[in-house]
Amino acid sequence: MSITTRFAPSPTGYLHVGGARTALFSWLYARKHGGKFILRIEDTDLERSTQESVNAILEGMTWLGLDYDAGPFYQTHHFDRYKEIIQQLLVQGDAYYCYCSKDELEQLRTEQMANKEKPRYNGKCRDSEELKPETEPVIRFKNPVDGVVTITDLVKGDIVVANKELDDLIIARADGTPTYNLTVVVDDMDMKVTHVIRGDDHINNTPRQMNILKALGAEIPKYAHLPMILGADGARLSKRHGAVSVMQFRDDGYLPEALLNYLVRLGWSHGDQEIFTIDEMVEYFELGDVNVSASTFNMEKLLWLNHQYIMNGDPAHVARHLSWHIGQLGIDPADGPELIDVVKAQRERSKTLVEMAAASVYFYKDFDSYDEKAVKKNFTAGSDHVLSRLHDELAAVTDWNGERVHQIIVDLAETLGLNMGKVAQPLRVAICGSAVSPAIDVTLSLLGQEKTLDRIEKAINYIRSLN
Ligand code: GLU
Repeated sequence: MSITTRFAPSPTGYLHVGGARTALFSWLYARKHGGKFILRIEDTDLERSTQESVNAILEGMTWLGLDYDAGPFYQTHHFDRYKEIIQQLLVQGDAYYCYCSKDELEQLRTEQMANKEKPRYNGKCRDSEELKPETEPVIRFKNPVDGVVTITDLVKGDIVVANKELDDLIIARADGTPTYNLTVVVDDMDMKVTHVIRGDDHINNTPRQMNILKALGAEIPKYAHLPMILGADGARLSKRHGAVSVMQFRDDGYLPEALLNYLVRLGWSHGDQEIFTIDEMVEYFELGDVNVSASTFNMEKLLWLNHQYIMNGDPAHVARHLSWHIGQLGIDPADGPELIDVVKAQRERSKTLVEMAAASVYFYKDFDSYDEKAVKKNFTAGSDHVLSRLHDELAAVTDWNGERVHQIIVDLAETLGLNMGKVAQPLRVAICGSAVSPAIDVTLSLLGQEKTLDRIEKAINYIRSLN
C-alpha cells in the first residue's frame, strides 16, 4: 500500500512547535515508507484565518526543511466539493435538516445539565419530514445509534466508542458553510490519506469522522494521535512558557535541525540516542514508539542540542544560517572575515547563532565604547606602552597569519619581562572592546592587519586620555 500523510494546520496564528512536531512525525512517516506528504491549509474559518498565518506556516515548513509532495491545498477552494458531499449525504438519508432554534437548543442543554446528563442534541429533527422554508436550517449528520466505533490508534492502541455517546453533529451551518468535521473527512477521502497523524486534542472528532467516512463508503484511514506537549508547570505549552512559534526559534538563534532533533525526541525515543541526523530519524521512526503520555518541553535541553549542532555541524551550513543573523544586525559580511571562519572560531562558545552574531560584530564594525570592567582591569598605566610596542611589531609583518602574530606576542612578553596575559589582554580589549574573544591569534588573523593596527592606535589614545 502506498502511504499518504498530511499536515493540516488552521492558519489562525503562528506555526506552533506542537504543530511542527505533528508535521515532522507525518513527514517522517511518509518519508520512511516512500509515501507522499501533503500540506493542507484548513482555512474555512474565515474570521480567524489570516494570510499572515498562512505565510508563517509556509515559512516555518521551509525553514524546517519539511518539504511536501503536494499542496499547499486550501480548503476554501473546495467549497463546491463540500456542498456536493453534503447533498449526497442528504440524498442517501445520512444527513438531515435541523430547524431547532438556538433558544430551543439552549433550553435542552440546561435541562440535560440539571439532570446531570451529558449535553447532546436529542435528535428532534432526525426523523421529521417537515420542511420549514421560513427558517434557515443547519444540516446534521445522522450518526448511527447502535454499535461501536473502534479506532485502531497506532499510538494509543484500540479505542472503542459507543455510537450512543455521539450525537448528530452539524456538518453545515445555517449559512451553508461546512463545518470542520465534514471538510476534514472530504479532503482526507479525496486526497486518499492513509494515515491521519495529529494531536490527541482531535481524538473526540475521530469516531464522528469515521462514521461519516463509512456513510460515504470511503476507506477509513489509520489514525495516530500524538500526546500533548506541556510546559514545565504541567500546563499545555503556550506563549506563557516562552518561545513557542517556530520562527521565534529561528529569531532566537536556533538551527532548524536542532529544533527538529529536539521535536523528534519529544514523545518518541530510539534507545538512549539523543542526536539524530535527518536520515537516522527517517530510518528509525516508528509510530509504535511514540509515548502514550504527554511530554514536557525543556528549553535547556533544546539549547544544549543547538550547541551540539553549532559545534559539530558543517561550518559552511552553520555560516549560511549565521549570515541571516549577521544581516539582522545590519552588518554586511563583506566588511570582514569569511563567515565560515567566524563559525570555526566562535562555535565552542556560542550556544545560539544570536550569541555568535553578537560576539562577532567587532570583526566587521568598529565599536563605540569599551567594556568598563575590561578597561579597569587591562588598560592600566603602562599598557599604552605595551600596545605601542605591539603596534610597531605588528605593523612590520608582511605575511599576516595567526602563527606569526602569536610569536610576536610571545616574544614581546619575554622582552618586556611580562607574562602573556599582560600583553594579550590589553590587546584583546583594544581590538574587541571586551576581554572575551576566541584565542588571540585566531582573533587577530580574522580581523586582519589593517583593522588591528587601527584599533591598537585608538586604544593607545584612549588609555592616554584616561591618565
Ligand atoms: N486543522 C486542524 C488543526 O489545526 C487539524 C485537523 C486534522 O489534523 O485533522 O487543529
